[in-house]
Amino acid sequence: MEQVYIGLGSNLAEPVAQLDAALSALSQLPQTELVAVSAYYSSAPLGPSDQPRYTNAAAHLATTLTAHQLLDHLQAIELKQGRVRKAERWGPRTLDLDILLFGQHILADERLCVPHYHMHARPFVLLPLADLCPTDFKLADGRRLADLLRDCPIDPTLQRLPAQQSCTI
Ligand code: ATP
Ligand code: MG
Ligand code: MG
Repeated sequence: MEQVYIGLGSNLAEPVAQLDAALSALSQLPQTELVAVSAYYSSAPLGPSDQPRYTNAAAHLATTLTAHQLLDHLQAIELKQGRVRKAERWGPRTLDLDILLFGQHILADERLCVPHYHMHARPFVLLPLADLCPTDFKLADGRRLADLLRDCPIDPTLQRLPAQQSCTI
């Protein structure tokens, strides 16, 4: 069993409902258990600013799938929930599911960069992750989550949503 952390994000078509649906889909993946879910967080968009605010969360999975099998499933869930990939990077999307951490593995190939290449600079990724991990948690590459949190930029737009707007499993 690998302990895996997924970053979820949405800013189109009722983001909270999109994350709820994605978590339901994650809970039904083969060879996989949905262990825990963070609170939901709202923040202003990264990249092009003429798009709605994002809702983000993180999920802890335990799985015997390989990282690439899991990515296939995540991309299928994104497509099922209406994700359209456009040329513009970081544009609006119904659902983004990224593998943040895959056990103690370090992956760098044409499809996967794990730990996620930009998580250290994204408060909307690190804060949900910190909901799920102990403060002394170490990433596969030796970085401490507490250090990443301390050193990441402050996002004044980031808000932790109250429990009724966050999924409870
Ligand atoms: P960002 O990667 O900056 O968060 P994004 O999530 O919007 O941007 P996508 O369009 O969802 O980017 O994915 C582009 C490609 O990134 C995917 O086709 C996938 O192969 C690749 N990728 C690399 N590493 C990962 C990862 N850790 N999790 C998910 N996809 C990844
Ligand atoms: Mg992403
Ligand atoms: Mg992605």
